Amino acid sequence: MKITKNSASALIIAGMLLAGCSKSATPTTSSKADSKAAAPESEVAKINAPNQGENSNRNLTKSEIPVDNFEYIADQFADIRILRYQVPGFEQLAPQEKELLYYLYEAALAGRDIIYDQNYKHNLRIRRTLDALAENYKGDRNSEDFKKFMTYTKRVWFSNGIHHHYSTLKIQPEFSQTYFAELVKNSPDAKLPLNQGETKDAFVKWISPIMFDPKIAPKRVNQAAGQDLVATSANNFYEGVTQKEVEAFYAKKENKNDPRPVSYGLNSKLVKEKGVIKEKVWKIGGMYDPAISKIVGWLEKAQNVATDPAQKESLAKLIQYYKTGDLKTWDDYNIAWVNDVTSPIDVVNGFIEVYGDPLGMRASYESVVSFKDMEATKRIKAIGDQAQWFEDNSPLMPEHKKKDVKGITAKVITVVVEAGDAAPSTPIGINLPNANWIRKEHGSKSVNLGNIVHAYNQAGAKGSALSEFAWNPEEIERSKKYSSLAGDLHTDMHEVIGHASGQINAGVGTPKQTLKSYASSIEEGRADLVALYYVMDPKLIEIGVMPSLEVGKAEYDGYIRNGMMTQLSRLALGEDVEEAHMRNRQMIAKWAYEMGKKDNVIEKKTRDGKTYFVINDYNKLHNIFGQQLKELQRITSEGDYKKAEYLIETYGVKVDPELHKEVLARYAKLNIPPYSGFIQPKLTPVMQGGKMVDVKIDYPKDFTQQMLEFGKNYNYLPNVN
Ligand SMILES: [Zn+2]
Repeated sequence: MKITKNSASALIIAGMLLAGCSKSATPTTSSKADSKAAAPESEVAKINAPNQGENSNRNLTKSEIPVDNFEYIADQFADIRILRYQVPGFEQLAPQEKELLYYLYEAALAGRDIIYDQNYKHNLRIRRTLDALAENYKGDRNSEDFKKFMTYTKRVWFSNGIHHHYSTLKIQPEFSQTYFAELVKNSPDAKLPLNQGETKDAFVKWISPIMFDPKIAPKRVNQAAGQDLVATSANNFYEGVTQKEVEAFYAKKENKNDPRPVSYGLNSKLVKEKGVIKEKVWKIGGMYDPAISKIVGWLEKAQNVATDPAQKESLAKLIQYYKTGDLKTWDDYNIAWVNDVTSPIDVVNGFIEVYGDPLGMRASYESVVSFKDMEATKRIKAIGDQAQWFEDNSPLMPEHKKKDVKGITAKVITVVVEAGDAAPSTPIGINLPNANWIRKEHGSKSVNLGNIVHAYNQAGAKGSALSEFAWNPEEIERSKKYSSLAGDLHTDMHEVIGHASGQINAGVGTPKQTLKSYASSIEEGRADLVALYYVMDPKLIEIGVMPSLEVGKAEYDGYIRNGMMTQLSRLALGEDVEEAHMRNRQMIAKWAYEMGKKDNVIEKKTRDGKTYFVINDYNKLHNIFGQQLKELQRITSEGDYKKAEYLIETYGVKVDPELHKEVLARYAKLNIPPYSGFIQPKLTPVMQGGKMVDVKIDYPKDFTQQMLEFGKNYNYLPNVN
């Protein structure tokens, strides 16, 4: 599963950091649908396997975040901001490590075309058209129309296709069809993806409705209950089959009693040809062969220079899988990958996440290439090493404490490149593999994309949302100084000691069985509260991960601001809070406000018609968080559905419409786009006598240029696959 954040605003980021495991390839506003298909894995794993944890993010800075001089913000258009990230430590790697990273980097990018085609069967031809026009149009490039054309083009690049990366709704061009025809007319034939003998006029006539008609392919992933999700989704995972037929096809294959089932349907398109339903497998010699062959070519080079035996073995299995398409080999590969814990360099490459398929079977191509951030990983370890102390000293009722608690191991990675579904929009954390039985028997890797989170924080620190919603300069200063570390510590603890803490009473079922639809919110709330409780504990100073309790205060400020107000910016007026993490954050904040009311612990203030929530007593709030933790643990341990329902429904769901309106208005003025993505670093090998002696890293600044470059250099698939 992946953990993403959806906003570039500092405050929202703080909220997401706090929430930790906020995965989201699906809109937060459709969490009902989420629970059906797109997101089951993460929620299930979270609750059934509390020891697996998920994660979130942290960054490289230690005690402060001085805003550095790197230009993090590169571009802004529509609802998107384009950022850049650095790769600290790359230069210090050994030449052979850099060479390995370079091959993995090329392997990652070689699959770029696949994600376009997976997202929609006409995406590649559309992208090639847009690339050609953006590069070659000879007319006025300063007109309003051309600007609108470029905005549309960048949106398509950002989403790897013509559907919004997050809502999955079709992106409507803001220029006319006539203008589009004009652009095509004034661009050279040879640059356009015309079919043999096809005229420009015929081409425009064919492609225009696909791009402009809102009724054609309106949504990439449709999750609306009661509809045929396969037929109504525009993705390219199925053709000529109904949802019923798909379900029947796999019901026949699946053996419910198999304790180690393969991931059926993971790496193929399901089609009906001449009345016969069959899988077109993505492998060498199968669908996407031209791109997969390139990927494998680079992976073979990588395998040759890999020095760690475990890594060599895992790469060999991945290559074998791409060659055969065999799902059993895919499982073997994942086991080898999980077992490779020693190599400093790591790679995710394959058909991984299933959020793009409404049935949650078929996976999108993605790759994340990285190396371990030793410094940041130490911090997690320092906390994990004290897991028993934290458990023993927690406010839980004695019978709910674990006698033998094991912290979850996690690591922080420094990303070198991301591709496919992981770019330009990126996860901030990854927890793989996805197969539950492998997670149970062999464990999983929980990684945090440290330098990506750092870039988000830096971009956010330059934003103005903090000053808009914080009460006074002291709070702003403290946040600038400490919120980054605070967020890191929160997510470290949420993940490493939070989910791992506590035990369920004998004879009581799992939270999923007892707390049902409230299980996720209660579980996330519980993990958040472990973090909130300890972030104000001197123990963290003692073990050397925090300089002072000011960090804890910054965390409290941010959590309350977010839970009471700023996260509302993600909802449209009139909507309730539905997404599990948002619910738990609002529940904790509002409940704490209520609990502290008689002592004025959190005060609602108004200034110039604007609302603020100000913490008057951090120690008392610490206490309140402790009581809340004790209660949520009791609910979990006893399976107290009634109380879970009461807390979530009372504090977590409803939104004050007046306050919501105010928050939206204040955000609108800030002009901070809700989504961000990244320009990738560029690696260039330095050759000497036919041997790679070094690899240079650059940080391109121009999103358009990178997209056009990628379009040319990794242009491996035909228009129709
Ligand atoms: Zn969590």
